[in-house]
Amino acid sequence: MWCHAEFEKTDGPTHEYLESTPSCWAAFGEVLAREYENGPLFAAAHRYTVDAYAVQHPGKPERRQIQSVWVHLVALYALFEENCPPRVAKKRMERLANKKDELEWLDPPDFSNTPNVISVLNTTTDEEHVAVAKAWAQSLWEAWYTKHKDAINQKIQKR
Ligand SMILES: [Zn+2]
Repeated sequence: MWCHAEFEKTDGPTHEYLESTPSCWAAFGEVLAREYENGPLFAAAHRYTVDAYAVQHPGKPERRQIQSVWVHLVALYALFEENCPPRVAKKRMERLANKKDELEWLDPPDFSNTPNVISVLNTTTDEEHVAVAKAWAQSLWEAWYTKHKDAINQKIQKR
């Protein structure tokens, strides 16, 4: 699977178009639950977690997946290239979603050397959770941006 996260095989639900194994989807659910339970953790880490997971599970070259990857890349651009706070990143995503017909599929980078959801799941303190979620998002951002810098810059500037 995309993210190279290694789990014992289990049965269970997965997301409709973010392609993952049931175990990976369940691990993501656990990480999200931790963030929803804890206000400060949610504020500091949730944007990173959601964007990282989405761009690490790009799925197939179909409309919804293409749009999903792009809106999360736009958020990551705002977070890491412009140091915007999460609420600004969210606004950028909403703006891009209005232009969904202009978006094209980007061939995903190699994720074999990036962290994955297990890295965040295995953290034991809030501080660590935030730091690892940020590092996860940043390494994915760098993988995508290195591979598609021109295409991403063009789309961001046209916005
Ligand atoms: Zn996965």
